[in-house]
Amino acid sequence: MSPDASDPRCRPMPAHHGLPAEPYDLDAVREDFPILKRLVHERPGRLGKPLVYLDNAASAQKPRPVIEAMTRCMELEYSNVHRGVHYLSQQTTDAYEAVRDKVQTLLNAPSRENIVFTRNATEAFNLVASTWGRTFLGPGDEIVVSVLEHHANIVPWQLLQTENGFAIKVIPCDDRGVLDLDAYAALLGPKTKLVSVTHGSNVLGTVPPAAEIVRIAHARGIPVMLDGSQAVPHMPVDVQALDADFYVFTGHKLYGPTGIGVLYGRKELLASMPPYQGGGDMIASVSFNGTTYREPPYRFEAGTPPIIEGIGLGAAIDYVQTLGLANIGAHEHTLLEYASVRLAAIEGVRLIGTAPGKAAIVSFVIEGIHPHDIGMLADQMGVALRVGRHCAEPLMERFGLEATCRASFGLYNTIAEAEALVDAVQSVKEFFR
Ligand SMILES: *Cc1c(COP(=O)(O)O)cnc(C)c1O
Repeated sequence: MSPDASDPRCRPMPAHHGLPAEPYDLDAVREDFPILKRLVHERPGRLGKPLVYLDNAASAQKPRPVIEAMTRCMELEYSNVHRGVHYLSQQTTDAYEAVRDKVQTLLNAPSRENIVFTRNATEAFNLVASTWGRTFLGPGDEIVVSVLEHHANIVPWQLLQTENGFAIKVIPCDDRGVLDLDAYAALLGPKTKLVSVTHGSNVLGTVPPAAEIVRIAHARGIPVMLDGSQAVPHMPVDVQALDADFYVFTGHKLYGPTGIGVLYGRKELLASMPPYQGGGDMIASVSFNGTTYREPPYRFEAGTPPIIEGIGLGAAIDYVQTLGLANIGAHEHTLLEYASVRLAAIEGVRLIGTAPGKAAIVSFVIEGIHPHDIGMLADQMGVALRVGRHCAEPLMERFGLEATCRASFGLYNTIAEAEALVDAVQSVKEFFR
């Protein structure tokens, strides 16, 4: 879907006062996010600091259309779904199921039946490990992940490994955070049953060449799962163009609510998988002599689904598609370039992750200053950063680091906020001089 030219927020903003041109009206967009107006560290007798929210890779803030859609659902259109004959239940079911269509469009999936709703990206990985993995992985088999992975794409496999006894091979990266595709190809063999890699590193911002990774695996008949948690909010994603077999993302990083995520699966793969959890909604019929299950995707959606969260996700998808994901990515890229160049110019600052074409995530360390101290001091200035291992401990080990500071940009961040980040880092350095 292309940006909606009739929406005033989609008006491109020309360059002015030395600021770069914007692909959409950033001031108008910021008005949509109530939280961006708040101050932090307010105390009696002291005015707070404006919030500079640069922790979007952990979770993004919510625009008013998302908040309003969820509120409207609870105020006026709420009922359980899928099993009511009454008016409200029909209405809520229609609204909830329409979100499956929105996700289909967002990912360019071939059909709505490819879309399974989960609680988050983590649950999508656990679902595939528990069903596809438990069925098809055994002793002597191998799966391939990369050193860039979030724990969500490591630990579910390890949990299953203790039962099914397969091996986990790891694609290495270079010092920029670029995956070594030769090493990757060399890892694949007759024992390889699955490749599961990220489509965007939450620590380094690396965007691996997913289509190429899939092509190499498919040439050997190996299916590929991609972690789109850090891709879907920042770029147009087309699962058919990627030729992905499984693709996951999480709603709360796409400006939607917590409690809802998505698993895309190729139809034959989903059909080959036994149920994940048992209960209501996923059954065709239940008897003490044996129970039968519904077709995918419903087979994998036991119990009352996250109805309100689903409605919120639908509104979030509408929101980003109105602005255009390519526009969002272009805007974030401007911020990334600006922050990277300015930070790298500060003595003692080292950027961690410099892959070409990376997404708008800047991890860095400052020589002689602990990342936690940087994060705490920046916070005093209103700048919200992430510090720590970012749920990717093997990657931190690869870079020989205990922790990094991470600034991650979203669609509403501004050059002034990137400037505030640079100022905060300068001040931290002054403080420790
Ligand atoms: C955040 C994140 C996840 C996990 O998302 P949840 O919502 O916590 O399940 C997985 N992979 C990547 C790359 C992430 O950034």
